[in-house]
Amino acid sequence: MNTRQEELRTRLLALGFDDVRFVQLKPVNGGFLRDWLGQGMQADMQWMERSADKRLDPQQVLPGAKSAVLLGVNYWPGGRDVSSMAERPLWARYALYSDYHDTLKPALIEAGRALESVYGVGGTDYRYYVDTGPVVERGWAARAGLGFIGKNGMLISRRFGNWLFLAAVLTTVELEPDPPVREAIGDGEQIGALCGKCTRCLEACPTGAITKPGVVDARLCISYQTIENKGVIPRELRGKIGAHIYGCDVCLEVCPWNRFAQESRRVLLVAREGIASLSLQELLALEPERFAAVFKGTAIKRVKLAGLLRNACIVAANTSANDCITALVRLASHDLPLVRVHAVWAVFTLAGRARAEDLLAVARSVETSSEVLEEYGWWAGAPTGP
Ligand code: SF4
Ligand code: SF4
Repeated sequence: MNTRQEELRTRLLALGFDDVRFVQLKPVNGGFLRDWLGQGMQADMQWMERSADKRLDPQQVLPGAKSAVLLGVNYWPGGRDVSSMAERPLWARYALYSDYHDTLKPALIEAGRALESVYGVGGTDYRYYVDTGPVVERGWAARAGLGFIGKNGMLISRRFGNWLFLAAVLTTVELEPDPPVREAIGDGEQIGALCGKCTRCLEACPTGAITKPGVVDARLCISYQTIENKGVIPRELRGKIGAHIYGCDVCLEVCPWNRFAQESRRVLLVAREGIASLSLQELLALEPERFAAVFKGTAIKRVKLAGLLRNACIVAANTSANDCITALVRLASHDLPLVRVHAVWAVFTLAGRARAEDLLAVARSVETSSEVLEEYGWWAGAPTGP
């Protein structure tokens, strides 16, 4: 046993990380990432393309980097799981915490100090990251045996299921690598290594976004559409979004490996459970000040009020929330065309064409945005509806 390394592991676990594994930074097989990018599956997340070389080559990030410490933080809410409360919009569970990029940072600074003290190195001998790349970090984590990459493309831990935040500390220190979950899977990056014949995640995805094991087409993915897409959500996807207001956990929660999930210790996480209890009515009525107050310090605030109202309009239509029609009609006159497009779609979907035309007559008469007029135009040519 390497005592210095075990001392480092013990100190990092004591900081609140739930799993600590080590990996050597051999060159990463970039074929998978480049194929995915080549097929445009990153949608308009151009930063993924721009940063691909850097993410594949740790030397561009930290010259002389030899190893990485992979850190997992378990965020399974356990008995307090409020994410599937009946008749409430659904939130990705990771979002129901203060932004983990912020709350993990002090512990990562401490992790760097632990590395300095155990190995006698300086502050230029390491660099830390939280969730900077969907492919590379997971690949390292799988090599280090933190878990394996499932057919849903997620890192799956045998101890925590699908519910780990990942962080990494790259370092010039040479660390002994931990083995992958099974020696037999070689470099550990094999997709679905412990999935067996299971295909639950592929079958459960509401939009068919998992085009083959391990490959998620962001353009079809509800997480991408409700979080990263800053514009209009394609009409053909809106109905498939269901009640997902922010992100989607479907391909995670159906995974049988979650039977090993454990309730988060919440040492490095701050739960924001109140968010999940917001009703659709409350969400549709959000104004800038209330939005800022409710979502302060969360990842959700990045979709901005317009993005959240857009998503709420879609959820209202998909959940037959007829008690929301008045709110939706009001949003059809919102300042932002992005909100108006989806409010118009929701009113037509819920009320049917004839009634929607009545309800929206005033909003329609003053509409000037080509995007919103296109939505009205589409419905003018659509079947009468419900
Ligand atoms: S997050 Fe949802 S939409 Fe995206 S791949 Fe998973 S199940 Fe499909
Ligand atoms: S649901 Fe089944 S196929 Fe999908 S990641 Fe989990 S074990 Fe693998």
